[in-house]
Amino acid sequence: MWQLQHPDAHNPTYLMNAKLTLSDDLKMCVPKAIVRRRTPYKDVMFAANLTPRHTVIDCHLDQSRDGIIQCVGSSKKVVIMWPATDGNLELLQEDPTHSMKFARIGNRMKGGIIVSIDSRVGLEMCTGTIHMTITMEGGPLVGINYVSAEGHCAGARCFRYEMIARLERDSSTIFTIYADQLEASLEGNNQVRHQSVLQDWAINYSLLIMMCRNLPKSTVNELRRVVRTLRNLLKRPWPLKMSCCGYVGDQFEQHFEDAHMKDLELLIEGAGKRKDRPKRNLDVVGGRETGGQGAMK
Ligand SMILES: [Zn+2]
Repeated sequence: MWQLQHPDAHNPTYLMNAKLTLSDDLKMCVPKAIVRRRTPYKDVMFAANLTPRHTVIDCHLDQSRDGIIQCVGSSKKVVIMWPATDGNLELLQEDPTHSMKFARIGNRMKGGIIVSIDSRVGLEMCTGTIHMTITMEGGPLVGINYVSAEGHCAGARCFRYEMIARLERDSSTIFTIYADQLEASLEGNNQVRHQSVLQDWAINYSLLIMMCRNLPKSTVNELRRVVRTLRNLLKRPWPLKMSCCGYVGDQFEQHFEDAHMKDLELLIEGAGKRKDRPKRNLDVVGGRETGGQGAMK
């Protein structure tokens, strides 16, 4: 709190993702104008950040989720955003735990925009928005994160990035969000979206198998949910011809089972029988200032 009044330009101390319980008459929700084009799935996660002036949060993604943020009181921020294109993600994952990302890759990322926000406006950041924030006037910022059906394509790319970058101490978080995202994408009857779910799954599959060689139990349960969701998707009536990795034969379901599900199911089955060995799971590289599902920054 001292630093809100007397910020230390060289070493600002800040608080991220504080879980707040709001009184019944105070609520942050997805505005109707956004709900008309994005479909929030399940609950939204509410969190608050407290940052003094001079705080810089370097380039990152809020995992595979949409977000809405708003400054409170007199606080002001500059937010720089880039789309999670393959090129920008490649730059971001060059050295994911490096502390000077903007200085290193800021001039090489493409499609960036800069906005200045204060308490009069909320800022929507769709899934797949790489962003950094600079606090111009210290104070609180509140925000929500949620998965949406429409965020699936960008979400699949972010999931891939999270798997490669291994930023989370608890990797089950990224699988939980991905499982939610898959379930969300099945809402409604949008076959174009469902088609892209299968294609994105095929793209991520070999990496997923590689990352899941030694699964902790929490991740296994989320992967079971992912497999269940994909099976439900395959069971749906498909008026158009389905495609995944370019397969063009008549035995699509058998192909999908053999090429894009079987190995994962074997891993899940094996992990289900095995006792967890906490020190040998895949959650060991890197780490953000705060992990977990409330990674809004
Ligand atoms: Zn395929």
